[in-house]
Amino acid sequence: MIIVLKPGCSEEQISHILAKIEEFGLRHEVSRGVKRTLIGVIGEEDLVRNAPLKAIPGVEEVMTVLKPFKLASREFQEEDSAFDVGCGVTVGGGSLGMIAGPCAIEGEDVLLEIARSVKAAGANILRGGAFKPRTSPYSYQGLGEEGLKILRRVGDELQMPVVTEVMDPRQVELIDKYTDIFQIGARNMQNFNLLTEVGHTNRPVLLKRGMSATVQDLLMSAEYILANGNKRVILCERGIKSFDSSTRNLLDLAMVPNVKGLSHLPVIVDPSHATGRPELIPPMSLAAIAAGADGVHIEVHCRPEEAMSDGQQALLPNQYADVMQGMMQVAQMFKRTIPKPSKN
Ligand code: PEP
Ligand code: MN
Repeated sequence: MIIVLKPGCSEEQISHILAKIEEFGLRHEVSRGVKRTLIGVIGEEDLVRNAPLKAIPGVEEVMTVLKPFKLASREFQEEDSAFDVGCGVTVGGGSLGMIAGPCAIEGEDVLLEIARSVKAAGANILRGGAFKPRTSPYSYQGLGEEGLKILRRVGDELQMPVVTEVMDPRQVELIDKYTDIFQIGARNMQNFNLLTEVGHTNRPVLLKRGMSATVQDLLMSAEYILANGNKRVILCERGIKSFDSSTRNLLDLAMVPNVKGLSHLPVIVDPSHATGRPELIPPMSLAAIAAGADGVHIEVHCRPEEAMSDGQQALLPNQYADVMQGMMQVAQMFKRTIPKPSKN
């Protein structure tokens, strides 16, 4: 349910409305838009339906949100969500998050070398996995906490916000100490306990689309995080399973304008995992920006043949620099900006 407040509703009235909502056993989220202030009312469906919200002073209208995702919807918030993810880098609302780095953190020297190259090329967020969700238990699983420490040190040294994957609710506290952004990988998009746990933090979350997840599934997972109080969710398209094995996954680029019509949340595209083929990454990166994406996520390695994970899809630093040049031009054409990270 969305409550539309009367224009000029006082803060006192708003507090009274919020208190009433709580009295009905429901929760609220306030969205202060340019034109109107809205209150999203969430809770058990029967309770929401039966609460006499219209009768509270200051309430102009009560609207039912037909979609199952509420706080993630454009109805709840008309303006694009935009927020700082660290070092002054804003993602959303015309400001692009350019995420780059290796699939896995393998050591400090390797990460520093990659990070320097992507930062010089224009990337504004450094990525690297310390806990890797590998299909095989015999594949490289990541450096764990040691990897997190390395990522933090390199991020601090280069003044870049960092993103790393969290796979389990029990890791949230530990990873929270080191990262600026939590990544929830495709394999965990519907790990509802994990979504709830990161929802209790106020760190930005990069939520990747599950490989067999619909757009609605993705938005419902985002809703879990939002409903638990964390408003800083970035969605990420990383390709879905298809019958065609000529690419690693099928990049659903139409999902970008599709989701942006349904939701105010930023959307980033990951052509690395979507295509699995370095030569397809540049054209898909340019297309992603043109399609309205709020950023692009690319895996880069200085020696892909030595990479512990996903080397076959990594771009070399000079290839990344080339695609960044192209993305900067497309961004300019569509009036988007790529913020440079600065001291926190
Ligand atoms: C990754 O980012 O390295 C990763 C494992 O991605 P995904 O969850 O999209 O497969
Ligand atoms: Mn990877």
